Amino acid sequence: MKKSIYDIIAQEEYFKADMIRLLGVHGSHDIETLRCAAEKTLFDNCGKRVFFRGLIEFSNHCICDCNYCGIRKSNAAVRRYVLKKKEVVDSALFCAKQGYGSIVLQSGEREDDAFVTYVEDVVKTIKRETVSSVLPDGIGITLCVGEQTRETYERFFAAGAHRYLLRIESSTPRLFEFIHPKTQKLQSRIECLRTLKNIGFQVGTGVMIGLPTQTLEELAEDVLFFKDMDVDMIGMGPYIVHTETPMALHKDETAARHDEILQLSLNMIAVTRLVLKNVNIASTTALQAMDATGREKGLLFGANVIMPQSTPTDVRNDYLLYEGKPCLDENALQCKNCIERRITSIGREPGYNSWGDSLHFSNCI
Ligand code: SAH
Repeated sequence: MKKSIYDIIAQEEYFKADMIRLLGVHGSHDIETLRCAAEKTLFDNCGKRVFFRGLIEFSNHCICDCNYCGIRKSNAAVRRYVLKKKEVVDSALFCAKQGYGSIVLQSGEREDDAFVTYVEDVVKTIKRETVSSVLPDGIGITLCVGEQTRETYERFFAAGAHRYLLRIESSTPRLFEFIHPKTQKLQSRIECLRTLKNIGFQVGTGVMIGLPTQTLEELAEDVLFFKDMDVDMIGMGPYIVHTETPMALHKDETAARHDEILQLSLNMIAVTRLVLKNVNIASTTALQAMDATGREKGLLFGANVIMPQSTPTDVRNDYLLYEGKPCLDENALQCKNCIERRITSIGREPGYNSWGDSLHFSNCI
């Protein structure tokens, strides 16, 4: 007899077939059962606090040509920018002042010397300038600047970044190849994740959800990949079309699946929480791009990290990975007030002035 959703959730261990069932739940009753279980697992393992990562998108120059991404190298319509060091440092200081204990420095991918030295210098300066009585070791820094050599990762770590986010995008070879040019390899991304762990970073990864041709089985394999890689953090969200990309070919079918992809993204957060238990999971901006209350929904389905947009407003419009990105014209202070309201409105607590490290990482060392 087919197991009920209750039976599956009550199990200690989840098999791939169970995950596939949970990922595909629909109908308000089953969805609520899944959501409650994920929320309980979150509260039991990590508590009610939601941690902040002020998101600073410091450059959109990119040497990669991902088939889904709006800032891909081949998109000539993008106005390219690199923030001045002072602008990044000022944004970080602003985040510290708002009580965000951590920031994410994100950019397109580059591997030239000037870039590596710039990132290293920015990280060092931010660490030095954000030391305070509430943040005695400075603000927590997560880097999200793509695939780099071991030596570069070591320099970033020595400079003071202690977390690194590198999404695998899809862990299944078939789908990874479908969404990337031939020059970009799944295996090299996996190697980077291993290197980052080995150096001592808290490591995050994640995937896009609702990619054309992606199956529930592939998403279940992604969750198993997260588990096998023993990562500390997850950042994932719905795939959203950008017109100036090769995957815009599938625009209409993606648009027609809007509600389904939104729910699938929430189910994916819930299943990841049930399986990985004490990792940090971000409720990403892409969720809010799909639904005005998408980020709250992400928190309700088991996420515990939120990334307030902290990029200077004048370049935010140039960092468009996908269409319909929210908060483009809100200044960072409006963003903070709005997010705090959203967190308290669902009975959670803002985790101000704390790095909010993944308990999965702290419990392993
Ligand atoms: N260069 C960095 C940062 C990339 S942008 C790196 O390689 O890690 C951050 C993330 O945005 C990507 O990892 C990808 O998962 C997501 N992204 C890009 N295009 C997207 C789209 N069209 N829809 C949803 N998410 C997208």
